[in-house]
Amino acid sequence: MEFIPVNTPLLDGNEKKYLEECIDTGWISSEGAFVKRFEEGIAAYVGRKYGVAVCNGSVALDLAVEALQLQKGDEVIMPTFTIISCAAALVRRGVKPVLIDADPVTWNMDVSQIEDKITAHTKAIMVVHLYGLPVNMDVVNDIAKRHHLHIIEDGAEAHGLEYKGKKCGGFGTISILSFYPNKHITTGEGGMVLTDDETLKERCVSFRNLCHSKERRFYHEDLGYNFRMSNIQAAVGVAQLERIEEHLEKKRALGQAYQEELNGISKLQLPVSETEYAQNLYWVFGMVLDQGVPFDAIGAMERLADRGVGCRPFFYPMHLQPVFRKMGLFVGESYPIAERLGERGFYVPSGLGVTEEQIQYIAEQIKEILG
Ligand SMILES: *Cc1c(COP(=O)(O)O)cnc(C)c1O
Repeated sequence: MEFIPVNTPLLDGNEKKYLEECIDTGWISSEGAFVKRFEEGIAAYVGRKYGVAVCNGSVALDLAVEALQLQKGDEVIMPTFTIISCAAALVRRGVKPVLIDADPVTWNMDVSQIEDKITAHTKAIMVVHLYGLPVNMDVVNDIAKRHHLHIIEDGAEAHGLEYKGKKCGGFGTISILSFYPNKHITTGEGGMVLTDDETLKERCVSFRNLCHSKERRFYHEDLGYNFRMSNIQAAVGVAQLERIEEHLEKKRALGQAYQEELNGISKLQLPVSETEYAQNLYWVFGMVLDQGVPFDAIGAMERLADRGVGCRPFFYPMHLQPVFRKMGLFVGESYPIAERLGERGFYVPSGLGVTEEQIQYIAEQIKEILG
């Protein structure tokens, strides 16, 4: 069998047609009409008032932190088990990330640990919906309300994912999505900030485009960025959004197929297919090796790569990142669940292009390497 890459996107809708429209009309920059169409389309889909398209999900987080005007010395509670973009957006502004361990079953942040970490400096809780399951939002909403905290919601992996019937991306004071090719819908590179707050939206729009003053272009009262999304990216996004339900249905089916193939292997922890508040949407199909397995995630990935299966390791916890250690952050902190997930977790090909036959082959290879 040919090598199975960890992700292959699906681009078989109107992508080409809309891209041709960009070329034919010459509208390729962020000024083109697809950008607005994509922003409005996503905002309507998620149920938010405003969407601000940007060039990737990581800078969407930067923009969210900027818009909330978080300052040096402020604290934000967040999971240690996530992508570095979440912590980087805080650390770059001198905001202190205060970490929470992961839940051993859902792999999302353990919301029962949040309240103990609140101090007089806490300004926000950053929630990150991981790998296809949402964070337990009732608990987070309740804590945020009682302590007057903002919620920064990272829904980069969670387009269309529902918590008790409400779409992710709809929970934050300010929320973000990513459209990297391994997300449920893609623009190649791309991201969006979502909010219902007009002031926050205005700040995002301004900081996305260098903070040109409204009265005079090239005159600046604040220091902004160029985080703009191009019309080319948005054209792909509009086409992808037309197909989102199909994409999500494929992801669910893919996850269920893996569940059936791998169910009952004793040395492997699989994702839960549902919790009391959500159905798993399987952004990727992850698994965690039991302590008894004589190799870790990297070992498993090497063995599977030899058999033609492309995998990726799970995130590596923020408190163990050399870059943060060098800055004197998180010294002496330990989060055992996240550490275990970081060492022993990985995911298998989960892109929209994976076939049933490939899933069977991949499952066989996993069984074989585990003996
Ligand atoms: C992919 C991802 C991001 C970053 O998005 P990019 O578009 O790749 O910058 C942020 N947070 C999470 C949880 C992600 O999975």
